[in-house]
Amino acid sequence: MSKIPHGLSQILATYGNPTKNAKLDPAWQRDNIVMVDLPYAMRASYTGANTVRKIQFHKLGAQELREILQEIYDFVRVQVKREVGFDLTTPEYDALTARRLREYGLDVFSGSFVYRVMRLSSKLSTHSWGIAIDFDSYRNGLGNHHHCIPMFAVEAFEKRGWVWGGRWKTPDAMHFQRCSGY
Ligand SMILES: [Zn+2]
Repeated sequence: MSKIPHGLSQILATYGNPTKNAKLDPAWQRDNIVMVDLPYAMRASYTGANTVRKIQFHKLGAQELREILQEIYDFVRVQVKREVGFDLTTPEYDALTARRLREYGLDVFSGSFVYRVMRLSSKLSTHSWGIAIDFDSYRNGLGNHHHCIPMFAVEAFEKRGWVWGGRWKTPDAMHFQRCSGY
């Protein structure tokens, strides 16, 4: 497991401070936020964009996020192959994999780097550092215990030390972050 910062002081020491004069610091953003190439295309729930191939993330978590999403994609692909059989053509196989990702809501992108305060407090959201990602905000709303996030996806994040909001007292199942204790 990689070293994941715990608590606000470690988060600030690791990822820097995105705030300057009570606003997002553009210099911090320029130095820390990078684009991550997604291993599979997603759809954006906020903008309605049909195809998202790159998302913004903190440079220290970008490679890990890509690995996690690749692992999720590969898991679903093997799952489809096991269930449907081994005589599929590649286009059929790709389409079934995409459909399964859609059923899980894992292809619905609901935000990564967004400078804002948390919905239930005045603390800065971990999205402000670009160290969090949300999946399918429609079906995994805050406080919803009947979310659609599968446990293999949770494990892909948690085995790298990331934290899943689905375990919180008020569950935020759409949410995964690369820090703990915050
Ligand atoms: Zn979130």
